[in-house]
Amino acid sequence: MKGICPNCEKETNLELIRTIEAINVRGEKIEIETRRYRCLDCGEEFEDPRSDDDPLDKAYKEYRRRHKMTTPEEIRSLRKRYGLTQSEMSTLLGWGAVTLSRYENGALQDEAHEKTLRLVMEPLNLLRLIEETPDALPQEKRDRLIEELQSAEQAAYSFSRIYEERFGRYRPNVFSGYMSLDLAKLNNAILYMCMDGVLKTVLNKLLFYSDFKHFKVHAVSITGSRYVRIKFGPAPDNWRSYLSFLMEDGALDVEEIFYDEDVTGEKLISARKPDLSIFSEEELMTLASVKKHFKGWTAKKITDHSHEEKGYMETPNSQPISYAYAEELKI
Ligand SMILES: [Zn+2]
Repeated sequence: MKGICPNCEKETNLELIRTIEAINVRGEKIEIETRRYRCLDCGEEFEDPRSDDDPLDKAYKEYRRRHKMTTPEEIRSLRKRYGLTQSEMSTLLGWGAVTLSRYENGALQDEAHEKTLRLVMEPLNLLRLIEETPDALPQEKRDRLIEELQSAEQAAYSFSRIYEERFGRYRPNVFSGYMSLDLAKLNNAILYMCMDGVLKTVLNKLLFYSDFKHFKVHAVSITGSRYVRIKFGPAPDNWRSYLSFLMEDGALDVEEIFYDEDVTGEKLISARKPDLSIFSEEELMTLASVKKHFKGWTAKKITDHSHEEKGYMETPNSQPISYAYAEELKI
């Protein structure tokens, strides 16, 4: 390929060299690809001027991802959301003046600091910290934040109460794929499946297959939803509530379609983009592979297919289907 060689100071022929570099982060080996160029005229090697991440940064990013650690962006945005300066935030956390700044700029936080960060991400914990550290903030800012955090806490509390009343609550067990029901994931999985429009009965199967397939491979479900046996196949417990919730919220549209003179069906179409950032990479892969697998299937074909699932056949009507049947899933 052609490019500018900094040594020859003109356009020459360049060769791209990809190397895998193993970087040790806290005893864990992380492989990072680095790209360099060699000038075929003078032989000089130089780094890709467009890549701005240095390998150590990339390794830290990967390490954080693997361990689900707080990212520098999250730390910075938490602080900014409440209008705190680095020095105010450091005093609140009881950290040295440069520590926070280093973390916001990409240094890898130690484990104790990570725990503290996780804690203060919860508004209620941040509120307590502000209350218990009277000298950390100017009076006016302190009063404003306490008021703001108290009302956010009340709102979150009543929101979860409404959710619980509406959708019920159950313990993670073999009927939920050993996960607690995660409504954000369930709602966004629905929006993901409905991006191009699907029939209601097809959607229920896509969700069933996603959670059960994920359980088959990873031994946990994605959404923590229970699935019950209904006439048309497996469906998320309370599926009508989820759909009407999304419709009231303006996230989901419904369109009536006509097959024949007297046969109609309801097609669901996302009116909002799903937030996919809440899923892990593995979960996204499962959702995408199930969506792809059943692409183009008619409602009848997918319904018949789901009727042949052992979990469906061996579960009585209206009863939850055990994820233990995921072993024998036909996908
Ligand atoms: Zn050169």
